Amino acid sequence: MNVRDSEVICGLLQKAGYSISLDDKEADVIIFNTCSVRKHAEDRVWSLIGALKKSKNLRDSSRSGTIPIIGLVGCMAQNYKEKAFERDADVDFVVGPADIDKIPVIIKGLCVQQTKTRGQSPCGDCPRFFERKIWETEGVNRPEEIYHTGFYQDQHHAYVVISEGCSNFCSYCVVPYVRGSLRHRKHKDILTEIQEAINHGITKVTLLGQNINAYQDNQVNFTKLLYQVNALAGLKEFDFFTSHPKDAGVDSFKAIRDLEKLVKRLHLPLQSGSDRILKLMNRGYTVKEYLALIDSYRKIIKGGLLTTDIIVGFPTETDKEFMETCALVKQARFNAAYIFKYSSRPGTEAAKMVDGLKPNELEKRHKKILDLQRGISKELRSR
Ligand code: SF4
Repeated sequence: MNVRDSEVICGLLQKAGYSISLDDKEADVIIFNTCSVRKHAEDRVWSLIGALKKSKNLRDSSRSGTIPIIGLVGCMAQNYKEKAFERDADVDFVVGPADIDKIPVIIKGLCVQQTKTRGQSPCGDCPRFFERKIWETEGVNRPEEIYHTGFYQDQHHAYVVISEGCSNFCSYCVVPYVRGSLRHRKHKDILTEIQEAINHGITKVTLLGQNINAYQDNQVNFTKLLYQVNALAGLKEFDFFTSHPKDAGVDSFKAIRDLEKLVKRLHLPLQSGSDRILKLMNRGYTVKEYLALIDSYRKIIKGGLLTTDIIVGFPTETDKEFMETCALVKQARFNAAYIFKYSSRPGTEAAKMVDGLKPNELEKRHKKILDLQRGISKELRSR
């Protein structure tokens, strides 16, 4: 989702007359498009901004050329809002995911401020504080036009957002808070965007949604949309992310089987093999229901790939419950799994729960299940 958002931002800036620099030392504007799903991702952004300070200060003091403007965009921006300026004074603007269409205007505003104030501050240069701070985090709906700038990083492959936000409120997840509630793009707009991409030479498309199976635009549900995308001339292959077990079903599995352009793969996040933990996570399904779902997927799509997400060390997860997840991994035999150590996100329900697991225990569980899955993946690959 963030890769696509970055493309959208690049496309909007190009349309406004800016060009993309491949060297941050040359850039007049540096934008961090950020993720808040795990603390580690946030820590990396702050440390990258810290590393930039040095070169920024050098250019600042040389008084030649423009002082680079630093923007914090995406989920971290939404989370921190104006507090981002307190956390790091080198950040000049903060823009949440629903406001990315405003970035060109914000940068223009900052440049005007910079020109106006240059020479007026005590040091004879642009002031570093207060006068160069803008934040936009109140947006709800993105304008449709932002998806039609024609900017794609890859010559042949395009990401296409079909729905934004999520209303599931899994207890560990910050997405509903930072990306808002689930909104669906109009199916005609989605098809137009894909057709435009095909006209640009794109042959492969990945449809994106936080909870993609829940897609609904009047009479067009997710499965119907898959059939419509498959019918587009010039498109050779497409896939989609991410399905939610409570919304995935036989209809979409049959579409995967029957549509010749649709990749025979399903990414179906499990998260835990314990019913008690799944309930605490507010996932909306049981282990039994999950197993029935993947059984039906495999019966319908012979040889179809199956991948998943797992969180290890959710608050109050006992050793026995962790072993239940391991048992499910052995039983399900996923082709691959993204296995994460639980990361507490402020503001979520899970953040209020007591997390008694010691870091070394968490490491041990993480390694154990990673090794288990690696063995299974290797065996399945060798076949
Ligand atoms: S489905 Fe759950 S984990 Fe996925 S984005 Fe929505 S709230 Fe987060």
